[in-house]
Amino acid sequence: MKLEIYYLKRIRFLSLLGLILMICTNALSQTSRPNIIFIMSDDHATSAISAYGSHLTEVFKTPNIDRLANEGVKLENCFVTNAICTPSRATILTGKYSHKNGVYTLLGKIRDQENVASVLQQNDYMTTVIGKWHLHTEPYGFDDFDVLPGQGKYYNPKFKNKAKLKRSFKLDRGEQYEGYSTDIIGDKAVNWMKNRAADKPFFLMCHFKAPHRPWDPAPRYKDFLKDVKVPEPFNLHDDNSGQGKWAQSAFNKIGKDMQAFDIGTEIPEGLTGEELTSFKYQHFIKRYLACCKAVDDNVGKLLEYLDESGLAKNTIIIYTSDQGFFLGEHGWYDKRLIYEEGLRMPFVVRYPNVIMANKEVKNLVVNTDFAPTFLDFAGVDIPEDMQGVSLKPILISKKKIKDWRKSVYYRYWMHMTDVGVPAHYGIRTERYKLTYYYGLPLGMRGTARRIDLYNKESGMIKPTPSEWEFFDLKKDPFEMNNLYGNPKYDKVIDELKEQLKTQKNSLGDSDETYPELQKQTAKDW
Ligand code: CA
Repeated sequence: MKLEIYYLKRIRFLSLLGLILMICTNALSQTSRPNIIFIMSDDHATSAISAYGSHLTEVFKTPNIDRLANEGVKLENCFVTNAICTPSRATILTGKYSHKNGVYTLLGKIRDQENVASVLQQNDYMTTVIGKWHLHTEPYGFDDFDVLPGQGKYYNPKFKNKAKLKRSFKLDRGEQYEGYSTDIIGDKAVNWMKNRAADKPFFLMCHFKAPHRPWDPAPRYKDFLKDVKVPEPFNLHDDNSGQGKWAQSAFNKIGKDMQAFDIGTEIPEGLTGEELTSFKYQHFIKRYLACCKAVDDNVGKLLEYLDESGLAKNTIIIYTSDQGFFLGEHGWYDKRLIYEEGLRMPFVVRYPNVIMANKEVKNLVVNTDFAPTFLDFAGVDIPEDMQGVSLKPILISKKKIKDWRKSVYYRYWMHMTDVGVPAHYGIRTERYKLTYYYGLPLGMRGTARRIDLYNKESGMIKPTPSEWEFFDLKKDPFEMNNLYGNPKYDKVIDELKEQLKTQKNSLGDSDETYPELQKQTAKDW
Protein backbone atom coordinates (compact mmCIF):
# COMPACT_ATOMS: atom_id res chain seq x y z
CA MET A 1 0.00 0.00 0.00
CA LYS A 2 2.79 2.37 0.98
CA LEU A 3 4.54 1.50 -2.28
CA GLU A 4 1.38 2.31 -4.27
CA ILE A 5 1.08 5.73 -2.61
CA TYR A 6 4.75 6.32 -3.31
CA TYR A 7 4.28 5.57 -7.02
CA LEU A 8 1.08 7.62 -7.20
CA LYS A 9 2.89 10.60 -5.70
CA ARG A 10 5.78 10.05 -8.04
CA ILE A 11 3.49 9.92 -11.10
CA ARG A 12 1.75 13.11 -9.91
CA PHE A 13 5.13 14.77 -9.42
CA LEU A 14 6.33 13.73 -12.87
CA SER A 15 3.06 14.86 -14.49
CA LEU A 16 3.36 18.21 -12.77
CA LEU A 17 6.97 18.50 -13.85
CA GLY A 18 5.94 17.64 -17.43
CA LEU A 19 3.18 20.24 -17.33
CA ILE A 20 5.57 22.92 -16.05
CA LEU A 21 8.09 22.00 -18.73
CA MET A 22 5.40 22.19 -21.42
CA ILE A 23 4.26 25.63 -20.26
CA CYS A 24 7.86 26.85 -20.14
CA THR A 25 8.59 25.50 -23.63
CA ASN A 26 5.44 27.13 -25.00
CA ALA A 27 6.30 30.41 -23.35
CA LEU A 28 9.83 30.18 -24.72
CA SER A 29 8.69 29.42 -28.24
CA GLN A 30 6.18 32.26 -27.93
CA THR A 31 8.79 34.81 -26.90
CA SER A 32 11.38 33.45 -29.29
CA ARG A 33 9.17 34.04 -32.31
CA PRO A 34 10.05 37.61 -33.21
CA ASN A 35 7.67 40.35 -34.23
CA ILE A 36 8.56 41.79 -37.63
CA ILE A 37 8.09 45.43 -38.58
CA PHE A 38 8.76 46.09 -42.24
CA ILE A 39 8.96 49.82 -42.92
CA MET A 40 9.06 50.70 -46.59
CA SER A 41 8.99 54.12 -48.15
CA ASP A 42 8.46 54.88 -51.83
CA ASP A 43 11.40 56.02 -54.00
CA HIS A 44 13.84 56.73 -51.14
CA ALA A 45 17.37 56.68 -52.60
CA THR A 46 20.28 55.58 -50.45
CA SER A 47 21.95 58.92 -51.23
CA ALA A 48 19.21 60.59 -49.14
CA ILE A 49 20.00 58.46 -46.08
CA SER A 50 22.95 59.73 -44.06
CA ALA A 51 23.92 56.23 -42.88
CA TYR A 52 24.77 55.47 -46.51
CA GLY A 53 26.52 58.80 -47.09
CA SER A 54 26.59 60.87 -50.28
CA HIS A 55 27.06 64.41 -51.57
CA LEU A 56 23.81 65.27 -49.70
CA THR A 57 24.97 64.21 -46.24
CA GLU A 58 26.53 67.57 -45.32
CA VAL A 59 23.11 69.25 -45.54
CA PHE A 60 20.73 66.37 -44.82
CA LYS A 61 20.62 63.78 -42.03
CA THR A 62 18.29 60.90 -41.17
CA PRO A 63 19.12 60.27 -37.49
CA ASN A 64 16.44 57.66 -36.88
CA ILE A 65 17.19 55.48 -39.89
CA ASP A 66 20.87 55.91 -38.99
CA ARG A 67 20.10 54.66 -35.49
CA LEU A 68 18.72 51.46 -36.98
CA ALA A 69 21.89 51.08 -39.05
CA ASN A 70 24.07 51.67 -35.98
CA GLU A 71 22.18 49.11 -33.95
CA GLY A 72 21.88 46.59 -36.77
CA VAL A 73 23.05 45.64 -40.25
CA LYS A 74 23.21 47.87 -43.31
CA LEU A 75 23.12 46.12 -46.68
CA GLU A 76 25.39 47.89 -49.17
CA ASN A 77 24.35 45.91 -52.22
CA CYS A 78 20.62 45.32 -52.04
CA PHE A 79 19.02 45.53 -55.49
CA VAL A 80 15.54 45.65 -56.95
CA THR A 81 14.71 43.17 -59.71
CA ASN A 82 12.36 45.55 -61.61
CA ALA A 83 12.69 49.19 -60.56
CA ILE A 84 9.10 50.37 -60.38
CA CYS A 85 6.62 50.58 -57.49
CA THR A 86 3.94 47.95 -58.07
CA PRO A 87 6.21 45.16 -59.37
CA SER A 88 8.73 45.66 -56.56
CA ARG A 89 5.96 45.42 -53.97
CA ALA A 90 4.65 42.22 -55.57
CA THR A 91 8.16 40.76 -55.57
CA ILE A 92 8.74 41.66 -51.93
CA LEU A 93 5.47 39.97 -50.93
CA THR A 94 5.73 36.84 -53.07
CA GLY A 95 9.50 36.29 -53.10
CA LYS A 96 9.18 35.89 -56.88
CA TYR A 97 10.35 37.80 -59.94
CA SER A 98 7.82 39.71 -62.07
CA HIS A 99 7.73 36.95 -64.70
CA LYS A 100 6.64 34.47 -61.99
CA ASN A 101 4.13 36.55 -60.00
CA GLY A 102 2.72 38.17 -63.15
CA VAL A 103 3.04 41.76 -61.89
CA TYR A 104 5.23 43.29 -64.62
CA THR A 105 4.03 46.90 -64.61
CA LEU A 106 2.14 49.49 -62.59
CA LEU A 107 -1.09 47.95 -63.85
CA GLY A 108 -0.29 44.45 -62.52
CA LYS A 109 -2.73 42.95 -60.02
CA ILE A 110 -1.41 40.64 -57.33
CA ARG A 111 -4.79 39.06 -56.47
CA ASP A 112 -4.84 36.21 -53.91
CA GLN A 113 -1.32 34.88 -54.38
CA GLU A 114 0.44 33.16 -51.53
CA ASN A 115 2.81 35.67 -49.98
CA VAL A 116 4.92 36.29 -46.90
CA ALA A 117 1.93 37.67 -44.96
CA SER A 118 -0.41 34.79 -45.82
CA VAL A 119 2.22 32.22 -44.82
CA LEU A 120 2.92 34.00 -41.54
CA GLN A 121 -0.82 34.30 -40.90
CA GLN A 122 -1.24 30.54 -41.39
CA ASN A 123 1.52 30.11 -38.81
CA ASP A 124 -0.24 32.08 -36.12
CA TYR A 125 1.15 35.54 -36.75
CA MET A 126 -1.10 38.63 -36.64
CA THR A 127 -0.58 40.40 -39.96
CA THR A 128 -1.35 43.92 -41.13
CA VAL A 129 -0.41 46.41 -43.83
CA ILE A 130 -0.74 50.15 -43.26
CA GLY A 131 -0.14 52.89 -45.86
CA LYS A 132 0.66 52.52 -49.53
CA TRP A 133 -0.45 49.27 -51.13
CA HIS A 134 -0.80 49.96 -54.88
CA LEU A 135 -1.42 46.34 -55.86
CA HIS A 136 -5.00 47.06 -56.92
CA THR A 137 -6.77 44.07 -55.35
CA GLU A 138 -7.72 43.53 -51.71
CA PRO A 139 -4.67 42.70 -49.56
CA TYR A 140 -4.57 38.92 -49.16
CA GLY A 141 -3.15 37.23 -46.07
CA PHE A 142 -3.70 40.17 -43.72
CA ASP A 143 -5.80 40.13 -40.54
CA ASP A 144 -6.10 43.90 -40.88
CA PHE A 145 -5.29 46.49 -43.48
CA ASP A 146 -5.51 50.25 -43.57
CA VAL A 147 -4.27 51.32 -46.98
CA LEU A 148 -4.23 54.32 -49.31
CA PRO A 149 -6.36 53.93 -52.42
CA GLY A 150 -4.01 53.85 -55.45
CA GLN A 151 -1.06 56.21 -55.03
CA GLY A 152 -2.81 58.01 -52.18
CA LYS A 153 -2.63 61.69 -51.30
CA TYR A 154 -0.06 63.58 -49.22
CA TYR A 155 -2.57 65.94 -47.58
CA ASN A 156 -5.79 64.73 -45.89
CA PRO A 157 -5.57 61.27 -47.48
CA LYS A 158 -8.24 58.61 -47.63
CA PHE A 159 -7.68 55.11 -46.28
CA LYS A 160 -9.44 51.81 -46.91
CA ASN A 161 -9.67 50.01 -43.60
CA LYS A 162 -10.59 46.32 -43.59
CA ALA A 163 -13.01 46.62 -40.65
CA LYS A 164 -14.67 49.77 -42.00
CA LEU A 165 -15.22 48.84 -45.65
CA LYS A 166 -18.77 49.72 -46.65
CA ARG A 167 -18.55 48.01 -50.03
CA SER A 168 -16.06 45.70 -51.69
CA PHE A 169 -12.40 46.76 -51.59
CA LYS A 170 -12.56 47.71 -55.25
CA LEU A 171 -15.66 49.91 -54.90
CA ASP A 172 -15.11 51.37 -51.43
CA ARG A 173 -13.84 54.95 -51.66
CA GLY A 174 -12.22 55.00 -48.25
CA GLU A 175 -12.45 57.29 -45.26
CA GLN A 176 -10.70 60.66 -45.19
CA TYR A 177 -8.23 61.65 -42.46
CA GLU A 178 -7.02 65.13 -41.65
CA GLY A 179 -3.28 65.64 -41.69
CA TYR A 180 -0.11 64.63 -43.54
CA SER A 181 0.07 61.10 -44.94
CA THR A 182 3.47 60.19 -43.48
CA ASP A 183 2.44 61.26 -39.96
CA ILE A 184 -0.94 59.54 -40.22
CA ILE A 185 0.66 56.28 -41.37
CA GLY A 186 3.20 56.44 -38.51
CA ASP A 187 0.40 57.07 -35.98
CA LYS A 188 -1.72 54.28 -37.41
CA ALA A 189 1.20 51.85 -37.13
CA VAL A 190 1.81 52.72 -33.47
CA ASN A 191 -1.92 52.55 -32.66
CA TRP A 192 -2.22 49.17 -34.35
CA MET A 193 0.57 47.81 -32.15
CA LYS A 194 -1.01 49.31 -29.02
CA ASN A 195 -4.41 47.78 -29.74
CA ARG A 196 -3.37 44.43 -31.17
CA ALA A 197 -4.13 41.11 -29.47
CA ALA A 198 -0.88 40.54 -27.61
CA ASP A 199 -1.04 36.76 -27.49
CA LYS A 200 0.55 36.31 -30.92
CA PRO A 201 3.68 37.62 -32.61
CA PHE A 202 2.94 40.17 -35.33
CA PHE A 203 3.99 41.11 -38.85
CA LEU A 204 3.43 44.81 -39.53
CA MET A 205 4.07 46.31 -42.96
CA CYS A 206 4.25 50.09 -42.60
CA HIS A 207 4.41 51.63 -46.08
CA PHE A 208 4.92 55.35 -46.47
CA LYS A 209 3.74 57.08 -49.62
CA ALA A 210 6.64 59.53 -49.30
CA PRO A 211 8.98 60.52 -50.88
CA HIS A 212 7.15 59.68 -54.14
CA ARG A 213 6.16 62.35 -56.63
CA PRO A 214 4.57 65.00 -56.27
CA TRP A 215 6.90 65.60 -53.30
CA ASP A 216 4.46 67.60 -51.15
CA PRO A 217 6.23 68.38 -47.86
CA ALA A 218 4.74 68.21 -44.38
CA PRO A 219 3.52 71.70 -43.39
CA ARG A 220 6.28 71.85 -40.74
CA TYR A 221 8.90 71.38 -43.48
CA LYS A 222 7.38 73.78 -46.02
CA ASP A 223 10.58 75.88 -45.97
CA PHE A 224 13.00 73.00 -45.44
CA LEU A 225 16.57 73.92 -46.51
CA LYS A 226 15.17 77.20 -47.88
CA ASP A 227 18.38 79.19 -47.50
CA VAL A 228 20.76 76.32 -48.27
CA LYS A 229 22.35 75.59 -51.62
CA VAL A 230 22.06 71.82 -51.76
CA PRO A 231 25.22 70.24 -53.27
CA GLU A 232 24.77 68.94 -56.80
CA PRO A 233 25.97 65.48 -57.83
CA PHE A 234 29.20 65.84 -59.84
CA ASN A 235 27.44 64.49 -62.95
CA LEU A 236 24.29 66.64 -62.83
CA HIS A 237 25.21 68.18 -66.17
CA ASP A 238 26.22 64.90 -67.80
CA ASP A 239 25.58 65.07 -71.56
CA ASN A 240 25.08 61.28 -71.46
CA SER A 241 27.58 60.68 -74.24
CA GLY A 242 29.07 57.91 -72.09
CA GLN A 243 25.77 56.06 -72.03
CA GLY A 244 24.21 53.98 -74.77
CA LYS A 245 21.61 55.45 -77.15
CA TRP A 246 18.78 53.67 -75.43
CA ALA A 247 19.61 55.03 -71.98
CA GLN A 248 19.91 58.46 -73.56
CA SER A 249 16.36 58.17 -74.85
CA ALA A 250 14.80 57.92 -71.38
CA PHE A 251 12.32 60.64 -70.44
CA ASN A 252 13.94 61.45 -67.10
CA LYS A 253 16.17 64.46 -67.63
CA ILE A 254 15.69 67.13 -64.97
CA GLY A 255 16.45 69.88 -67.50
CA LYS A 256 14.17 68.65 -70.27
CA ASP A 257 11.44 66.69 -68.54
CA MET A 258 10.82 67.98 -65.02
CA GLN A 259 7.75 70.21 -64.86
CA ALA A 260 6.90 73.35 -62.88
CA PHE A 261 4.41 71.39 -60.74
CA ASP A 262 7.22 69.02 -59.76
CA ILE A 263 9.33 71.81 -58.34
CA GLY A 264 6.50 73.75 -56.72
CA THR A 265 7.39 77.05 -58.40
CA GLU A 266 7.29 78.85 -61.72
CA ILE A 267 10.28 78.43 -64.01
CA PRO A 268 11.74 81.86 -64.82
CA GLU A 269 11.68 82.67 -68.52
CA GLY A 270 14.97 82.62 -70.35
CA LEU A 271 16.62 79.93 -68.22
CA THR A 272 18.29 77.30 -70.38
CA GLY A 273 20.98 74.63 -70.32
CA GLU A 274 22.87 74.08 -67.09
CA GLU A 275 21.22 77.06 -65.38
CA LEU A 276 17.79 75.59 -65.99
CA THR A 277 18.86 72.15 -64.72
CA SER A 278 20.44 73.63 -61.58
CA PHE A 279 17.37 75.75 -60.87
CA LYS A 280 15.00 72.80 -61.17
CA TYR A 281 17.34 70.57 -59.16
CA GLN A 282 17.46 72.98 -56.19
CA HIS A 283 13.68 73.26 -55.97
CA PHE A 284 13.05 69.56 -56.55
CA ILE A 285 15.67 68.26 -54.13
CA LYS A 286 14.44 70.44 -51.25
CA ARG A 287 10.90 69.13 -51.67
CA TYR A 288 12.17 65.57 -51.95
CA LEU A 289 14.38 65.82 -48.86
CA ALA A 290 11.57 67.48 -46.88
CA CYS A 291 9.45 64.38 -47.61
CA CYS A 292 12.33 62.11 -46.48
CA LYS A 293 12.69 64.15 -43.28
CA ALA A 294 9.08 63.43 -42.25
CA VAL A 295 9.63 59.73 -43.01
CA ASP A 296 12.66 59.73 -40.70
CA ASP A 297 10.63 61.47 -37.96
CA ASN A 298 8.08 58.69 -38.16
CA VAL A 299 10.70 55.94 -38.09
CA GLY A 300 11.75 57.64 -34.83
CA LYS A 301 8.15 57.50 -33.62
CA LEU A 302 8.03 53.75 -34.17
CA LEU A 303 11.42 53.18 -32.52
CA GLU A 304 10.32 55.22 -29.51
CA TYR A 305 7.19 53.11 -29.11
CA LEU A 306 9.22 49.89 -29.33
CA ASP A 307 11.49 51.20 -26.55
CA GLU A 308 8.62 52.35 -24.31
CA SER A 309 6.60 49.17 -24.74
CA GLY A 310 9.52 46.81 -24.23
CA LEU A 311 8.88 45.30 -27.69
CA ALA A 312 12.25 46.40 -29.09
CA LYS A 313 14.14 43.36 -27.84
CA ASN A 314 12.03 40.76 -29.60
CA THR A 315 11.22 42.69 -32.75
CA ILE A 316 12.99 42.62 -36.11
CA ILE A 317 12.67 46.06 -37.68
CA ILE A 318 13.59 46.83 -41.26
CA TYR A 319 13.80 50.07 -43.18
CA THR A 320 13.80 49.92 -46.97
CA SER A 321 12.34 51.52 -50.08
CA ASP A 322 10.64 49.86 -53.06
CA GLN A 323 13.58 50.92 -55.25
CA GLY A 324 16.16 53.64 -55.54
CA PHE A 325 15.88 57.01 -57.27
CA PHE A 326 18.05 59.29 -59.38
CA LEU A 327 18.63 62.56 -57.56
CA GLY A 328 20.32 64.40 -60.41
CA GLU A 329 22.97 61.79 -61.24
CA HIS A 330 23.51 61.80 -65.04
CA GLY A 331 21.07 64.73 -65.04
CA TRP A 332 18.28 62.26 -64.29
CA TYR A 333 15.43 61.88 -61.83
CA ASP A 334 13.02 58.93 -61.44
CA LYS A 335 14.06 55.25 -61.44
CA ARG A 336 13.31 52.40 -63.93
CA LEU A 337 16.78 52.18 -65.51
CA ILE A 338 19.20 49.50 -64.30
CA TYR A 339 21.77 52.15 -63.35
CA GLU A 340 23.03 52.01 -59.76
CA GLU A 341 20.97 54.86 -58.30
CA GLY A 342 17.66 53.31 -59.41
CA LEU A 343 18.72 49.72 -58.83
CA ARG A 344 20.07 50.01 -55.27
CA MET A 345 17.57 49.74 -52.40
CA PRO A 346 18.35 50.95 -48.89
CA PHE A 347 18.04 48.11 -46.40
CA VAL A 348 18.85 48.40 -42.70
CA VAL A 349 17.67 45.84 -40.16
CA ARG A 350 17.89 45.55 -36.38
CA TYR A 351 17.21 42.51 -34.22
CA PRO A 352 18.95 42.98 -30.87
CA ASN A 353 21.21 40.16 -29.69
CA VAL A 354 20.56 38.07 -32.81
CA ILE A 355 21.94 39.98 -35.76
CA MET A 356 25.14 41.99 -35.60
CA ALA A 357 25.18 45.66 -34.59
CA ASN A 358 26.81 48.40 -36.64
CA LYS A 359 27.77 46.05 -39.44
CA GLU A 360 27.91 46.57 -43.20
CA VAL A 361 27.22 43.61 -45.46
CA LYS A 362 28.37 43.71 -49.08
CA ASN A 363 26.88 40.41 -50.33
CA LEU A 364 24.60 40.75 -53.36
CA VAL A 365 20.98 40.78 -52.21
CA VAL A 366 17.72 41.15 -54.18
CA ASN A 367 14.16 41.92 -53.15
CA THR A 368 13.03 38.33 -53.76
CA ASP A 369 15.10 37.53 -50.63
CA PHE A 370 12.95 39.56 -48.23
CA ALA A 371 10.02 37.13 -47.87
CA PRO A 372 12.21 34.03 -47.30
CA THR A 373 14.24 35.98 -44.73
CA PHE A 374 11.22 36.91 -42.64
CA LEU A 375 9.84 33.37 -42.78
CA ASP A 376 13.21 31.98 -41.77
CA PHE A 377 13.48 34.25 -38.72
CA ALA A 378 9.89 33.33 -37.79
CA GLY A 379 10.84 29.64 -37.90
CA VAL A 380 8.38 28.95 -40.72
CA ASP A 381 9.06 26.72 -43.75
CA ILE A 382 9.83 28.73 -46.88
CA PRO A 383 7.53 27.72 -49.78
CA GLU A 384 9.58 26.00 -52.46
CA ASP A 385 8.42 28.26 -55.26
CA MET A 386 9.77 31.41 -53.58
CA GLN A 387 12.80 32.34 -55.67
CA GLY A 388 14.83 34.31 -53.14
CA VAL A 389 17.02 32.99 -50.37
CA SER A 390 17.00 33.76 -46.65
CA LEU A 391 19.46 36.48 -45.64
CA LYS A 392 19.66 35.11 -42.10
CA PRO A 393 23.16 33.60 -42.57
CA ILE A 394 24.69 36.88 -43.77
CA LEU A 395 22.87 38.90 -41.09
CA ILE A 396 23.91 36.80 -38.11
CA SER A 397 27.43 35.81 -39.13
CA LYS A 398 30.43 37.67 -37.76
CA LYS A 399 32.45 36.65 -40.80
CA LYS A 400 31.81 37.43 -44.45
CA ILE A 401 29.85 34.60 -46.07
CA LYS A 402 31.67 33.83 -49.31
CA ASP A 403 29.47 31.03 -50.56
CA TRP A 404 26.83 33.39 -51.95
CA ARG A 405 25.27 34.48 -55.26
CA LYS A 406 27.72 36.09 -57.67
CA SER A 407 25.32 38.09 -59.81
CA VAL A 408 21.83 39.55 -59.81
CA TYR A 409 19.31 39.57 -62.63
CA TYR A 410 17.16 42.55 -63.57
CA ARG A 411 14.36 43.11 -66.06
CA TYR A 412 12.23 46.16 -66.76
CA TRP A 413 8.92 45.73 -68.58
CA MET A 414 7.09 49.05 -68.38
CA HIS A 415 7.68 49.81 -72.07
CA MET A 416 4.54 47.73 -72.65
CA THR A 417 2.28 50.34 -71.04
CA ASP A 418 4.20 53.53 -70.63
CA VAL A 419 6.24 56.18 -72.35
CA GLY A 420 9.64 56.87 -70.93
CA VAL A 421 12.15 54.09 -70.72
CA PRO A 422 12.94 51.26 -73.14
CA ALA A 423 12.73 47.58 -72.29
CA HIS A 424 15.93 46.08 -70.98
CA TYR A 425 17.38 43.31 -68.93
CA GLY A 426 20.80 42.78 -67.47
CA ILE A 427 23.11 41.36 -64.93
CA ARG A 428 25.16 42.97 -62.16
CA THR A 429 28.06 41.18 -60.56
CA GLU A 430 30.26 42.47 -57.74
CA ARG A 431 32.36 44.29 -60.33
CA TYR A 432 30.54 44.57 -63.65
CA LYS A 433 27.20 45.39 -65.20
CA LEU A 434 25.97 44.20 -68.57
CA THR A 435 22.64 45.40 -69.97
CA TYR A 436 20.68 44.46 -73.07
CA TYR A 437 18.18 47.03 -74.43
CA TYR A 438 15.71 45.54 -76.84
CA GLY A 439 12.29 47.21 -76.96
CA LEU A 440 10.99 50.70 -77.54
CA PRO A 441 8.51 52.08 -75.06
CA LEU A 442 5.00 53.01 -75.98
CA GLY A 443 5.03 56.44 -77.61
CA MET A 444 8.13 55.30 -79.43
CA ARG A 445 8.21 58.21 -81.87
CA GLY A 446 9.00 60.60 -79.04
CA THR A 447 11.76 58.29 -77.91
CA ALA A 448 13.08 57.84 -81.43
CA ARG A 449 13.21 61.60 -81.91
CA ARG A 450 15.36 61.99 -78.86
CA ILE A 451 18.00 59.68 -80.17
CA ASP A 452 17.83 60.69 -83.84
CA LEU A 453 16.15 57.52 -85.01
CA TYR A 454 13.09 59.34 -86.33
CA ASN A 455 12.90 60.45 -89.94
CA LYS A 456 10.83 63.65 -90.03
CA GLU A 457 10.14 63.50 -93.78
CA SER A 458 8.90 59.95 -93.97
CA GLY A 459 7.53 59.77 -90.42
CA MET A 460 9.32 56.46 -90.13
CA ILE A 461 11.41 55.18 -87.32
CA LYS A 462 14.75 53.89 -88.44
CA PRO A 463 15.30 50.20 -87.82
CA THR A 464 16.19 50.04 -84.16
CA PRO A 465 18.92 47.64 -83.35
CA SER A 466 19.13 46.21 -79.91
CA GLU A 467 21.98 47.58 -77.88
CA TRP A 468 24.38 46.46 -75.16
CA GLU A 469 25.89 48.49 -72.37
CA PHE A 470 28.77 47.46 -70.18
CA PHE A 471 30.33 49.15 -67.15
CA ASP A 472 33.34 48.28 -65.02
CA LEU A 473 32.00 49.42 -61.66
CA LYS A 474 35.36 49.12 -59.94
CA LYS A 475 36.99 51.64 -62.28
CA ASP A 476 33.82 53.55 -63.09
CA PRO A 477 31.40 53.34 -60.13
CA PHE A 478 29.22 56.14 -61.51
CA GLU A 479 28.75 54.44 -64.89
CA MET A 480 30.12 57.29 -66.98
CA ASN A 481 31.77 55.20 -69.72
CA ASN A 482 29.97 52.47 -71.60
CA LEU A 483 32.80 50.10 -72.52
CA TYR A 484 30.81 47.65 -74.61
CA GLY A 485 32.92 46.86 -77.68
CA ASN A 486 36.21 47.73 -75.98
CA PRO A 487 38.44 44.77 -76.97
CA LYS A 488 40.10 44.78 -73.56
CA TYR A 489 36.85 43.50 -72.07
CA ASP A 490 35.82 41.04 -74.80
CA LYS A 491 36.48 37.97 -72.66
CA VAL A 492 34.74 39.43 -69.59
CA ILE A 493 31.73 40.43 -71.68
CA ASP A 494 31.46 36.97 -73.25
CA GLU A 495 31.48 35.41 -69.79
CA LEU A 496 28.86 37.85 -68.56
CA LYS A 497 26.62 37.03 -71.53
CA GLU A 498 26.80 33.39 -70.56
CA GLN A 499 26.00 34.25 -66.93
CA LEU A 500 23.09 36.41 -68.04
CA LYS A 501 21.67 33.54 -70.12
CA THR A 502 22.15 31.12 -67.25
CA GLN A 503 20.47 33.43 -64.74
CA LYS A 504 17.58 34.18 -67.09
CA ASN A 505 16.97 30.48 -67.75
CA SER A 506 17.43 29.27 -64.20
CA LEU A 507 14.94 31.87 -62.95
CA GLY A 508 12.42 30.69 -65.53
CA ASP A 509 12.36 33.89 -67.57
CA SER A 510 11.92 33.28 -71.25
CA ASP A 511 10.80 35.59 -74.05
CA GLU A 512 8.80 32.73 -75.54
CA THR A 513 6.47 32.93 -72.55
CA TYR A 514 5.42 36.43 -73.50
CA PRO A 515 4.06 36.60 -77.03
CA GLU A 516 3.29 40.29 -76.63
CA LEU A 517 7.01 40.93 -76.34
CA GLN A 518 8.22 38.75 -79.15
CA LYS A 519 7.99 41.32 -81.89
CA GLN A 520 10.09 43.70 -79.83
CA THR A 521 12.67 41.19 -78.77
CA ALA A 522 15.80 40.99 -80.85
CA LYS A 523 17.44 37.59 -80.64
CA ASP A 524 20.79 38.35 -82.09
CA TRP A 525 23.01 36.86 -79.42
CA1 CA B 1 8.51 53.48 -55.91
